[in-house]
Amino acid sequence: MTSTIIRAPRGAQRTAKGWIQEAAKRMLMNNLDPEVAEHPQDLIVYGGRGKAARDWQSFHKIVETLDRLENDQTLLVQSGKPVAVLNTHDLAPRVLIANSNLVPNWSTWEVFDRLEKAGLMMYGQMTAGSWIYIGTQGILQGTYETFASAAKKHFGGSLKGTITVTAGLGGMGGAQPLAVKLAGGVSINVEIDPTRIQKRLDTRYLDTVAGSLDEALTLAGQAKNEGRALSIGLLGNAAEVLPELVRRGFTPDLVTDQTSAHDPMWGYLPPARADEDVAELRRTNPDEYLARARDAMAAHVQAIIELQKRGAIAFDYGNNLREQARLAGVTDAFAYPGFVPAFIRDSFCEGRGPFRWVALSGDPADIHATDKALLELFPEDARLQSWLTYAADQIAFQGLPARICWLGYRERDRAGRLFNEMVADGRLSAPIVIGRDHLDAGSVASPYRETEAMLDGSDAVSDWPLLNFATGVASGAGWMSFHHGGGVGMGYSQHSGLVAVADGSEQAAFRLSRCLTNDPAMGVIRHADAGYDLARDVARDRGLDLPSLGV
Ligand code: NAD
Repeated sequence: MTSTIIRAPRGAQRTAKGWIQEAAKRMLMNNLDPEVAEHPQDLIVYGGRGKAARDWQSFHKIVETLDRLENDQTLLVQSGKPVAVLNTHDLAPRVLIANSNLVPNWSTWEVFDRLEKAGLMMYGQMTAGSWIYIGTQGILQGTYETFASAAKKHFGGSLKGTITVTAGLGGMGGAQPLAVKLAGGVSINVEIDPTRIQKRLDTRYLDTVAGSLDEALTLAGQAKNEGRALSIGLLGNAAEVLPELVRRGFTPDLVTDQTSAHDPMWGYLPPARADEDVAELRRTNPDEYLARARDAMAAHVQAIIELQKRGAIAFDYGNNLREQARLAGVTDAFAYPGFVPAFIRDSFCEGRGPFRWVALSGDPADIHATDKALLELFPEDARLQSWLTYAADQIAFQGLPARICWLGYRERDRAGRLFNEMVADGRLSAPIVIGRDHLDAGSVASPYRETEAMLDGSDAVSDWPLLNFATGVASGAGWMSFHHGGGVGMGYSQHSGLVAVADGSEQAAFRLSRCLTNDPAMGVIRHADAGYDLARDVARDRGLDLPSLGV
């Protein structure tokens, strides 16, 4: 079976037997919409080789099966392949997904690659394999929260008059230039692939592209001096450009990276001679390719550490770059912190994280109506007010119209129930899909990212994402997923994803009120258990029952 251009159906008519099945089908298709996915022809959505389905045959079989799935059945998907339809009950999830999971002692890219080549697995990343990716917007607010927190902690509340150097303008990394700009700063964004630079220019995530490092530094310097926010793309390899900055004695104010370092074979490109085809090297001599990619990451990280020593604020942006450098022999690779302990953990203590929703109507007016409704629902949340006002005005939709905002425990359920009422009374023209990233408060164990440096040392305990997955199933989610290796690669993370559907029915109201309460509660519970006072206060104030803590 061959690929064609995929675009989700729009509107209030469905071909599936229930709205959850219809939503799962449309979201799978939306993940592969050319406006949304990075390489849709290969089923790759984002994040290196994060896929939506194992192969085209599996994709078509999933679509076909969702259309015939009854309202008391559940479809099982194993690493992107539909493997069974079971009779369950009407409040069960309609789809259960497991992606890229390996028994711990076998959890390496080498084993995974062998199984993938044999057609037995696929890499699901986070929202790629769980069908709730919404394009670069999906990470924009989180990226903004990170840079805004950095601004608050280190630069008096704004990045005005600062220069950030980063790399990677892919599906997620492409949000960096706009996020830095929103925080008032200037950024130089190094990217090896000119088509990615063009895509970010076309979608207004990037302002301009410099023809050389000299030009990038001149443009950045001018904007910094004038206190003007500006984002600059630069075609180049980060493993060469960052050491060159060190040689030139240029120290940015902030330095980070979002190349796909989590996947050294497929996600990070080592420097190459002008006449050399590194893709060919990867095919003919994968061992040499891997060694060169790791050496390049070592040089990249050494440059970041040197810039940090010279005064830059350095942080790892969740791609496992430090670990790859450590494997290549950089003993102090972890000299700079990850972004979660540096800037995000307090939000996780409140169950706050990236909450997202999608209008199945395909009508932007539905998203604008939800924006307005949330502004009225949370008038006291200043960050949310400024984000939603900005987003409504400035963000180009990709694929089905969608929105994201960070909401916490006892907030997401209110938003979900409100959307359901709006579908029921006709203020919205079709159902709304509600989900979240796996990068969330209580859904992931990832010691070099979300659970780095936990107060009680429980970074690697993955009982929590398993409990989160089971909680979502028990609480009436529309579909649930459990993945391995997202964000940081094989062996380094386990995480779960939740999606629910507001179709205006009473059953949906019941499901939403349970699953959108219990899911963010897991974030509060996990952090309260680890000893964070803020999480314990939230648990106490918002009525959680935690027997071991006497709360
Ligand atoms: P992607 O694969 O879509 O994009 C990666 C980009 O890096 C590509 O455009 C590629 O050309 C570029 N690149 C690779 N090697 C390079 C090099 N040596 N120099 C310059 N550019 C190079 O991936 P993505 O979805 O943008 O995610 C990027 C990374 O960030 C992943 O590791 C992902 O797991 C991680 N991530 C972080 C967060 C977060 O919030 N921090 C969230 C999601 C993903």
